Amino acid sequence: MKAAMFLGPEDVQLQEIELPPLGPGEVRARVDVALTCGTDRKMYLRGHPLFEPPFIFGHEFAGTVTEVGAGVERFRPGMRVVAANSAPCGTCFYCMRRAPSMCEDLFIRLSGAFAEYIDVPAPIVAKNLLVVPEGVAARDAALVEPLACVVHGIERSGLRLGDTVVVNGAGPIGLLFVRLAAGKAGRVLVTDVRDDRLVRAMRLGADTTLNVGGLDDPAAAVRERTNGGRGADVAIEAVGLPETWEATVRMVRKGGVANLFGGCPSGTRITVDTSTIHYDEVQIRGVFHHTPRHVRAALELIAGGAVTGADLITGELPLDRLDDILSALVGHDGIKTAVLPQGR
Ligand SMILES: [Zn+2]
Ligand SMILES: [Zn+2]
Repeated sequence: MKAAMFLGPEDVQLQEIELPPLGPGEVRARVDVALTCGTDRKMYLRGHPLFEPPFIFGHEFAGTVTEVGAGVERFRPGMRVVAANSAPCGTCFYCMRRAPSMCEDLFIRLSGAFAEYIDVPAPIVAKNLLVVPEGVAARDAALVEPLACVVHGIERSGLRLGDTVVVNGAGPIGLLFVRLAAGKAGRVLVTDVRDDRLVRAMRLGADTTLNVGGLDDPAAAVRERTNGGRGADVAIEAVGLPETWEATVRMVRKGGVANLFGGCPSGTRITVDTSTIHYDEVQIRGVFHHTPRHVRAALELIAGGAVTGADLITGELPLDRLDDILSALVGHDGIKTAVLPQGR
């Protein structure tokens, strides 16, 4: 089959490879559509500690089962499926305390979406491979994994009806926050440094946008735009920069929640005024990844039409045009590219 092989940082090539025999508990699916994602971008530029090259690139997809390994009972050829990229172990300290995003043995091993077929590993088949409901298009279903992270993030933000919400960053994750927050919040204010992304944020339900590129104090500018200058009830960081984390904390009203969602480069630090936490009772939260429950909630939201592929997909290319796919990814050109391994 045709597959985009990751050979090393900035070296991903289209190759013709043999399909290996399918192992017990595994499911093979024809990839109907794959999506690019910010994690792919980081992986392309730097590699990834959990993945040893060569491996097949890409992890977001929806497909159709073509073959099942020994012992697989819930799936059979012809079923349309979507998978999250991980599976918690189900038995460690954190899993037993119903906090599987902190699983001590989290299996994050799904890679291989940018190919004609993908083999879903047994732990993911067991916990996070779902059947796509009838009538849901593959390009919508393929959003399950990033949306599951955002469902988790919204839940942990303690968002209440009528709240003023700030979303910093209008990339794929920030835009999904906007989409979900817009249904509950009174007002959603979005910041980014790119106008094209802010325009899309407005389309997805933002009430106000602010281009913070070149602003000396984005936090002050955001506060000015909230009720009475108090600050936001909830401010979400979906960029992954320490300076944006700090600014996000300063955008929150007394007693509000700062959800520092975007992963920063390892080893980075932030500084917070102690009075923000003591006198102002600002709650600072980090949220990582998703859980099987959030993956299922994400698919329900997609099936109900709350989020569609068209919200985020800005381009569509056959896998044969891998170079164009990669250059859009690296150049932050658009939001997500739909990759079509079956051509067209
Ligand atoms: Zn992703
Ligand atoms: Zn566990």
